[in-house]
Amino acid sequence: MGGFGIGSNKPTGQTQQENAEQNAKRRSWIGRQMEWMGVIAPLTDPEGRMIAKETHENLQIQAHKSEVLNEKDHQKHIHEYGIKVVKPDFNVPRKFPNSCRTTWLGHATYLIELPPQVSSNCTRGVTLLFDPIFSSRCSPSQYVGPKRFVPPPCSISDLPPIDMVFISHNHYDHLDVNSILQLQKLSEHHKRPTHYFVPLGHLNWLKETGISEKCITEMDWWDEVDIKVFVQNTIDTDIMVVCTPSQHCSGRGVSDQNTCLWSGWLVSQGIESKRLTDKDRAAELKPVDTPFSVFFAGDTGYRYFPPNMTPIQISELPCCPVFSQIPELYRPPHISLIPISTGSTLSFLKKFGIEASAPHHLTSSVHCDAADAVALHLDLKSKCSLPMHYGTFTSGPKEGLDSIRLLKEACQSAGVRVNESEMSLYKEQVKDHADDADQGKSRFEIFAMGEIGEVMM
Ligand SMILES: [Zn+2]
Repeated sequence: MGGFGIGSNKPTGQTQQENAEQNAKRRSWIGRQMEWMGVIAPLTDPEGRMIAKETHENLQIQAHKSEVLNEKDHQKHIHEYGIKVVKPDFNVPRKFPNSCRTTWLGHATYLIELPPQVSSNCTRGVTLLFDPIFSSRCSPSQYVGPKRFVPPPCSISDLPPIDMVFISHNHYDHLDVNSILQLQKLSEHHKRPTHYFVPLGHLNWLKETGISEKCITEMDWWDEVDIKVFVQNTIDTDIMVVCTPSQHCSGRGVSDQNTCLWSGWLVSQGIESKRLTDKDRAAELKPVDTPFSVFFAGDTGYRYFPPNMTPIQISELPCCPVFSQIPELYRPPHISLIPISTGSTLSFLKKFGIEASAPHHLTSSVHCDAADAVALHLDLKSKCSLPMHYGTFTSGPKEGLDSIRLLKEACQSAGVRVNESEMSLYKEQVKDHADDADQGKSRFEIFAMGEIGEVMM
């Protein structure tokens, strides 16, 4: 049996004024984001009735109505459109004993297997799962709404034991009731508890879905907790979790818009769990217990820009300050998971020809495009970033390929290296001009969906 010990560690030294400023900033974000609610189409059930707020009852029913593309369709997609999905085998041991294993499971779902501790003989690291969605639609109904273009690379029952699940917010493409229910079964199967980390306002939803309250930690922006995760029976690993702000919004129905918080997550292992002082910053990281940190940006915008501006004009506009604060307050993340595209709703609208009236600037306050993603990577001083939030709930085969092409172009113009795995089918789209001198630079790594990547620092 595994387990957890959690100690809350509210940030220290925060004055009342700083708190008030933070709250005011948050209120102004909410106000601005409310303006964009008009671009999100209300969802209806098959009879055309508007869906207000889900009930636990109908959620249970939907759990049996999931459907995914069959194998024949899947092969057709690979053949015709070059969309590649790899079935991961998590039983295959690491090639490198101290690597961090990363698996993009579609959309914003990432499995991270942290490096095993150096001070033990553990072969398995702590497992983190971010924004799990394995359903075929991200919608209140499995009959209508944005649908997966490609199937999930595996099912939840194929996953290794999951120690920690992180939810960024409650939009349907990030908080999926079917997946939460199946994760509970996985936890029971492995006889290991899974602990959920959610931003404020999500505790009751998870409890109503059947998760025990002792397995849920609800956090406000900049809250920190220290956790001991017991891996392989006797060894425990020290983990620090920070709930970080993001620039987004929330809501699952027409009546609950922005009533729950949205966030990113910083998860560190073997790194002292406190905000850095100047002395800490100057000191070298102590080589204990494989220090490693992962930042998950969740769903976020970087900067709002109005229409008809040039890229240079846009780059001079103010941006969300959080991403440059994170490496200052803590340390630059080893790995960052960064959204590179608008995701599901805009794609869904594009299917109906609404593309012309819904260009990126309309959602720039709440979603990153490729250039934003690269700016965010640089602000974070991230050593390695991986793209997410693309190529899954898309309007067609071209959209995922375009997302990667734009990311590579944005990386090129910002001098950020791109590494692509052999399995990635995006390889030939943009010629990589990086030479040996770029090898040491911070980078984006692109893996195929479902491919287990091993990231070394
Ligand atoms: Zn969202």
